[in-house]
Amino acid sequence: MTPEARADRLCEGIVRGNRSDLARGISVVENGEDEAGYLLQHAYRSRLTASVTGLTGAPGVGKSTMVDGLVSLFRQAGLTVGVIAVDPSSPFTGGAILGDRVRMRSHTVDTGVFYRSLASRGHLGGVSRHTGDVIALMNLYGFSEIIVETVGTGQSEVDIMRYADTVVVTLAPGLGDDVQAIKAGILEIGDVFCINKADLPGADKARREIEMMLHLREPGGWSPPVVETVAAGGQGLKDLLLAIESHRQYLSSVNLRDERRKGAYMAVLEEYLRGETVETVLRDSRLDGTLEKILHDLASGITDPRTAARFLVDKYVKESQMSSS
Ligand code: GDP
Repeated sequence: MTPEARADRLCEGIVRGNRSDLARGISVVENGEDEAGYLLQHAYRSRLTASVTGLTGAPGVGKSTMVDGLVSLFRQAGLTVGVIAVDPSSPFTGGAILGDRVRMRSHTVDTGVFYRSLASRGHLGGVSRHTGDVIALMNLYGFSEIIVETVGTGQSEVDIMRYADTVVVTLAPGLGDDVQAIKAGILEIGDVFCINKADLPGADKARREIEMMLHLREPGGWSPPVVETVAAGGQGLKDLLLAIESHRQYLSSVNLRDERRKGAYMAVLEEYLRGETVETVLRDSRLDGTLEKILHDLASGITDPRTAARFLVDKYVKESQMSSS
């Protein structure tokens, strides 16, 4: 079978709601197999109807526990849920695999729920692209809700969170320097703030600190609510859901949802553009031996990487633009 035919078959299976085809489709995309491009053509051409919620916070704040609780609430409301757990921290921790095992417990037998972990494999940009791809595949499958969960450590999850309509930033008391521990970028992307482990001492303090920092934001637009939860006991999760829903309503009332999604598509577009450009330039320069010469010049100290890269882009990208115009 050709890759195109294989992709068609996989796509039909996913649309029909076949879970193993969805799992296979995600692997195809993650591993960059031959049929990936065709499969993604189908996936991205299906309008994104799922609502996407992003959940981020330091390790141990209770994200997985919260996701389980939110999944249960969505299921009670008759909604189906796809969960993507992204581990941008390290390709070596095995965190993604462990995460899967932990999460399998609560909803293993429920066909309305699908969990998938994405490990970084050392490519930060690749993670963000795959996040978009997996959202597209889960949307094709027909999930009404998609949750993207990621560890809050820096820039990479700010990128990942561009895919979410609503971003929940979670903190917990007793995890060291609470608010200071969250990077400024993470604070800025929060649409809803959640103080989990509200049963522990220090929750009030964390709440006050967050509220103070939120006061420093530019006034106007959406003011992010701060919700307290005890995810382990299920308390406060309904309030969290209400806060997420009111943010969604806000987005649609001011027509911002599509704008946010354009931002996410821009991120995917940039990723692919980068990949395509690199491939084109390297292929062409290899064909006529230019690459070999440049590598020799670099090794001999005759040129530097930045100048060489600019030369290659000028030679193979700009020239092809001129010849096609
Ligand atoms: P993650 O690393 O952010 O995904 O955190 P987990 O969901 O794995 O939770 C880390 C630990 O905190 C686990 O032992 C949970 O049982 C515990 N935990 C989660 N929520 C709460 C809570 O609301 N209160 C307390 N005291 N512990 C919690």
